[in-house]
Amino acid sequence: MEHVIDIQGLVKWYGSVQALRGVDLKVQRGELLGFLGPNGAGKTTTIRCLLDQIRPQAGSIRVLGLDPQKNPVLVQRQIGYLPGELSLEGTLKVSQLFRYLIQLRGNRTDKAYLKELTRRLELDTSRKIKNLSSGNKQKVGVVQALMHQPTLLILDEPTAGLDPLMQQEVYRLLREAQSRGATVFFSSHILGEVETLADRVAIIRQGVIVEEATPDQLTEMAMRQVHVSFMDPVDLDPLRALPGVHVLAESDGLSAQLRVEGEMDALIKSLAGFPVKDLQTASHSLEDIFLKYYEREEEEA
Ligand code: ATP
Repeated sequence: MEHVIDIQGLVKWYGSVQALRGVDLKVQRGELLGFLGPNGAGKTTTIRCLLDQIRPQAGSIRVLGLDPQKNPVLVQRQIGYLPGELSLEGTLKVSQLFRYLIQLRGNRTDKAYLKELTRRLELDTSRKIKNLSSGNKQKVGVVQALMHQPTLLILDEPTAGLDPLMQQEVYRLLREAQSRGATVFFSSHILGEVETLADRVAIIRQGVIVEEATPDQLTEMAMRQVHVSFMDPVDLDPLRALPGVHVLAESDGLSAQLRVEGEMDALIKSLAGFPVKDLQTASHSLEDIFLKYYEREEEEA
């Protein structure tokens, strides 16, 4: 089994709202995959389908080679899961919750590792869960997902609500889990997090995967801003007609601010026919690429 997660054509409707419109996604064994997208894009819905918490109307799902609808126990035993909206209430102390989970999971948890997790995340296990701050509740969520060293980690926004130092610690823990052989699938809104942590990024938008690439490949695909000025006023229509070229601003045909997606070749060849005085280009960061997807969302709304 090469793919630990294999989703094909996943469709999910909530009443009249279509949350997923045919999601295809594969996660390779041992990879750290970042799952990104704007609010409401379908990240949590995809994750909840993986865990068979909700059922899609169409599509197929394989987790660790199994159908989670047919083998829920076998699948979930091998997963560490952190839900996006972790609800931890009740009068249990943190240590009591962990003891309960150790027993529930068949006493296979390495207690030294559990202790290391709580120490590194500075979590006071003598406190009652209901009295913890939201950041400390999030730490409880992270620890319960990692503590039994599962084969597959599925984490919905693992660093939400954590301060920057704790975020860094979580990144280290996830990398260490990966180096022990675990596969990590995590959703995030934080661009820097994905850039530094993920081997590969899948971007979901309006219920479909719109990009799958390594952070480096995404940066290579980045848009460029091009500023061109002309010796005489020109008609910019031939530039507007070029694929991937958008005229953002112009000044009496004497200069233009362009946004170029993909290769520069067509633009440069076309500009050869213009009386070009000056040309400046600037590449864009990974952040700009994500903003591109987010902007389109707003434009369409
Ligand atoms: P966020 O980053 O805000 O957590 P997300 O990418 O996780 O967003 P989902 O929570 O999967 O997105 O939501 C996808 C779409 O489905 C949204 O339009 C959302 O409003 C809708 N949705 C999610 N859960 C329900 C529900 N229980 N009932 C109705 N609509 C829902």
